[in-house]
Amino acid sequence: MDTQHTRDRERLDAFRQDFRAANVHSGYVWSRHVAAVVLYCVTAIGGALAQVEVWSAIYALVVPCAYVFANLAEYTLHRFLMHRVRWPFEFLYRRHSGEHHRFFTRHRMDVDSLRDLPAVIFPARVSLFFVGGVAAPAAWVVGWRITPDIGWLFLATAVAYYLSYELLHLGAHLPEQNRWGRARVVRWVRAHHAVHHDPRRMRHEAFNITVPLWDAVLGTVASRDDAADSARHGVES
Ligand SMILES: [Zn+2]
Ligand SMILES: [Zn+2]
Repeated sequence: MDTQHTRDRERLDAFRQDFRAANVHSGYVWSRHVAAVVLYCVTAIGGALAQVEVWSAIYALVVPCAYVFANLAEYTLHRFLMHRVRWPFEFLYRRHSGEHHRFFTRHRMDVDSLRDLPAVIFPARVSLFFVGGVAAPAAWVVGWRITPDIGWLFLATAVAYYLSYELLHLGAHLPEQNRWGRARVVRWVRAHHAVHHDPRRMRHEAFNITVPLWDAVLGTVASRDDAADSARHGVES
């Protein structure tokens, strides 16, 4: 058992070294990477909100509707494109199942250092796909079928959701010595996300990374006991 455990550790360490050699160049600065994602999303949110011409109290309903849509997009993209090879989205499978899930396992959820963030945060081109290829077309349809103002508000909410996803997922892979890594909301996210990082279960459970709303609706939520177990024993140094 111990020998198997040691072998698993060595295999994971070797994969991490290979990933770094291929993806983390010597000039990489993690704070710039995080700032770029935040700036890019905040600019898109501000740009969308600036397009709203007339504000109305009824628009308060748009935010939860867009949130539920974004939560469904998170679920479906994760379940059906990141854990299955489907043309022309092989890059999502490669990046997520081939790299992210091999870099982090249920009992080794943390980065070794902040230079490992490229294993967590999507590269800019993938973020562009989510915002430009998923959120923007959905918002355009909403704007076309209802009103342009509602479409812009829908877009701003969807991008804000994407930013929350990136930051919460980042926190779930930070050590608890990190202030964001030990925030209460992050510990809650890490508990169900760690179950998803079990290789035997990653194709079947816990596809929502943020709020497991569609996991609950579609019967794939991580069991309460498993999530509690991850919260207790999830991190191994
Ligand atoms: Zn993860
Ligand atoms: Zn996954």
